[in-house]
Amino acid sequence: MKVAILGTGYVGLSTGVCLSDIGHDVICVDLNEAKINKLSQGISPIYEPGMQRLLTKNIDAGRLSFTTSHQEGLDHAEVVIIAVGTPQKDDGGVDLSYIEQAGKDIAVHVKQSTIVVIKSTVPVGTNEYVKRIIDEQFDGNHSIELVSNPEFLRQGSAIMDTIEADRIIIGAEKKEVAMKLQEMYRPLHVPIILTSIRSAEMIKYASNAFLATKISFINEIANLCESVGADVEDVVKGMGKDKRIGNSFLQPGIGYGGSCFPKDVKALLHTAELNGFDFSMLKETIAINDSQRRLLVAKAVNRFGNLKGRKIAMLGLSFKPETDDMREAPSITIARSLIEHGAKVTAYDPVATDNAKKIVEMDKVRFTSTISKAVKEADAIFIVTEWNEFRQMDISEIIKKMKSPIIFDGRNCLENNRIKECKTIEYYPIGRPPII
Ligand code: NAD
Repeated sequence: MKVAILGTGYVGLSTGVCLSDIGHDVICVDLNEAKINKLSQGISPIYEPGMQRLLTKNIDAGRLSFTTSHQEGLDHAEVVIIAVGTPQKDDGGVDLSYIEQAGKDIAVHVKQSTIVVIKSTVPVGTNEYVKRIIDEQFDGNHSIELVSNPEFLRQGSAIMDTIEADRIIIGAEKKEVAMKLQEMYRPLHVPIILTSIRSAEMIKYASNAFLATKISFINEIANLCESVGADVEDVVKGMGKDKRIGNSFLQPGIGYGGSCFPKDVKALLHTAELNGFDFSMLKETIAINDSQRRLLVAKAVNRFGNLKGRKIAMLGLSFKPETDDMREAPSITIARSLIEHGAKVTAYDPVATDNAKKIVEMDKVRFTSTISKAVKEADAIFIVTEWNEFRQMDISEIIKKMKSPIIFDGRNCLENNRIKECKTIEYYPIGRPPII
């Protein structure tokens, strides 16, 4: 099938390489010339496991190409997938300007009957809105059908999540249109659920809001565990074995981040408000997440009394491991708060440092190229992202470099027995008794 994808971010690019890998003829269009130049040379602009291999393989096979020309992309396509960004607006609503522009681009350039698939996360009713935009500008006689096909991949495992998705949602009004999309995805052998367009749009928000709420719930349990002397890791093990609960997204920590959960939860709340519905549970999910991000600093203030002049080494910057994405990363809130408290902050991350350097709130952070350099003479370590490199680090060697061997572990990634072997250490995990 001939497919064009508008937007080569995490979603568009992962979709592009995976659809070409199952045999489709894919052309990816992006406004960002630098990105397209890199991609055309076979270089992935994002860090994503497995991406580079599939990119090279499918370019070489002649099934995958890149362009900045919408005309070139749309001339080619029977199916056009919109995967542009849908960032948050100040009022919590969704900025649809990129989607609107993509709709206009399609209307102006399309020359044959086309199925337009909205893969970007958009509020309920947006597919109908985009159809109106296209209809207003389009003066041909061809049919243009809209399909809602929200994406559920996670950064850090985007390729595997696309190839082995739990489900694919296809929201379409016409059966033949849904069948065409089913045919496109058939080689993936993933369960497909057909719904109305509005239900498909809602499934995406309901899923993300549920997962975010699950995280905030376990974080509150962790906080209560600290008060009553229980160990949240044991609690999670015990809860997760229950099939009705499951153990995913039940890991306590310093809150969710990234480009999706924070904005999608707020967008759903905004939709509720616009419809006169008081979704109070979501307000709590957001409030708990905000305070969870401040937990490590609060613990450090409690321990030191005052952070003025203290040197804190942040290990991890990206919002989660296996990605270089800094959007809404808890590390930003933590760095800002530490600096406001007068602390000196050093930071190390295996891949996200270049992106972190572009963030204004991080301008007083000193970035280092190794863990050792970050922790040198530090009063304390904050583990912010659970990279394997931190799980596996030689703790006894690390603490030798520090001024005082104190670790605040925001992701519970160090094992208790390894901590206990280093007798001098002070260790403060989340929701578990500290080791002092
Ligand atoms: P992104 O910001 O990484 O990439 C968007 C790309 O679209 C950019 O490269 C931009 O230059 C390009 N673009 C903007 N307007 C364009 C146009 N008119 N024509 C062509 N290209 C255009 O975004 P992302 O993280 O891939 O997210 C895309 C959408 O998917 C969002 O709605 C997001 O909420 C949703 N989503 C993201 C994830 C994720 O993990 N990142 C997961 C599921 C869903």
